[in-house]
Amino acid sequence: MANWSPSSWTTKPIKQDVVYEDVQGVKDALSQLQRLPPLVTAREINNLKSNLKKVALGEAFVLQGGDCAELFDYCNQEMIEAKLKLLLQMSLILIWGANKPVIRIARIAGQFAKPRSSPTETVNGVEMPSFRGDNINGFEATPESRKPDPARLVSAYFHSAATLNYMRASLSSGLADLHSPMDWGLGHVIEPSIKDQYSRIVNSVQDALRFMRTVGIDKDRGVETADIYTSHEGLSLEYESTMTQMLKQPVQSGHGTVTQSDPAWYATSGHFLWIGDRTRQLDGAHVEFFRGISNPVGIKIGPTMAADELVRLLDVVNPNKEIGKVTLISRYGASKIAQYLPGHIAAVQASGHIPVWQCDPMHGNGKATPSGVKTRHFTDILSELKQALEIHRQAGSFLGGMHLELTGEAVTECVGGAAGLTEDGLGERYTTFCDPRLNEKQALELAFLVAGFYRE
Ligand code: PEP
Ligand code: MN
Repeated sequence: MANWSPSSWTTKPIKQDVVYEDVQGVKDALSQLQRLPPLVTAREINNLKSNLKKVALGEAFVLQGGDCAELFDYCNQEMIEAKLKLLLQMSLILIWGANKPVIRIARIAGQFAKPRSSPTETVNGVEMPSFRGDNINGFEATPESRKPDPARLVSAYFHSAATLNYMRASLSSGLADLHSPMDWGLGHVIEPSIKDQYSRIVNSVQDALRFMRTVGIDKDRGVETADIYTSHEGLSLEYESTMTQMLKQPVQSGHGTVTQSDPAWYATSGHFLWIGDRTRQLDGAHVEFFRGISNPVGIKIGPTMAADELVRLLDVVNPNKEIGKVTLISRYGASKIAQYLPGHIAAVQASGHIPVWQCDPMHGNGKATPSGVKTRHFTDILSELKQALEIHRQAGSFLGGMHLELTGEAVTECVGGAAGLTEDGLGERYTTFCDPRLNEKQALELAFLVAGFYRE
């Protein structure tokens, strides 16, 4: 990679930068991070990349989801399990619907840093820095807590490590065992129609498994566990570049001997990193950093992205046109997708790039209630997804997946869905520290409806 190093981004203009007063503290934190082991390996990252290649070619579907802003507090057994189970349940529904393997990526174990529309805000008449995520400053609304604290970068590493450790342990201990999907629990889902539909899918999966057991082909590891990859926005470049390492991957040759692949740079903080809509400037620091790493990467694109700029961006981040290396995460809004997506697809098709096209139906559909509560309407989310699927079909392209903000908790943050949550009900359990998320019921319902689009 010409003229690139993990720190070459420092010579470029940067958006959403965090200014630390404690310069020595930053140096100490980064040198501690540098000595710590990678959170993920090159082999895992490459496995995800080859899975995403299948998605780009229309052979698999990718489900990505999790919190808008993950907090250190979410690093507990109950919340991690709830999120994993929800993603597993949704993916089972989608496998049944789309009749394709589903690649699961969670916004977890590192989704701490948040871009903000303003660097400061005024709370109770006091101006203070905005909350930038648990790896940067504290949510508590005091100027002291909002001061960027470099020790939080190290804390982010350890919270990511603990979360990932529990994910790995529960997945390898049978959390995702397809023999007992009903044990995944339907938690707060009380809607009989959703429960019925889900039970029907589970029964048909169990029939298939019984058959596989009878004929003796269920010994495959695939039935007992599942892969869930980790992802986050690669916003804090101090953290990401420190966690970037030159790694080799063991490869098995045809004769059974193990050799090493050529070394390459990997961001080892998570399997999949994405560039946000606010930091994707062609000449900016984030694009500079992302162009040098071997991980599969996401790029958020919205109405402000020009079609020719999109192609130039793909040329910079993926000059070799590796299939599935880049996931374009489109987030236009239900009322705008028809205006922008066809032009973006046409430009990318003409360029010869074959990315994964993923629909994020959350970030273009933010609304505020008359009293100023941030929410999203289930119908808008569903509408953007449905339009995305149809526009891709018409263009001879594939909608490869969806990117959602969701939680396994019974929160009341998005309006609508079968339970009929209204704006008046939002106050009941509104716990997000950033954008409104789908609750478990709404997320499962969405998975059923999207699965239904594929079965139409
Ligand atoms: C996000 O995914 O939480 C986010 C900030 O999205 P975007 O960059 O699309 O605004
Ligand atoms: Mn968000």
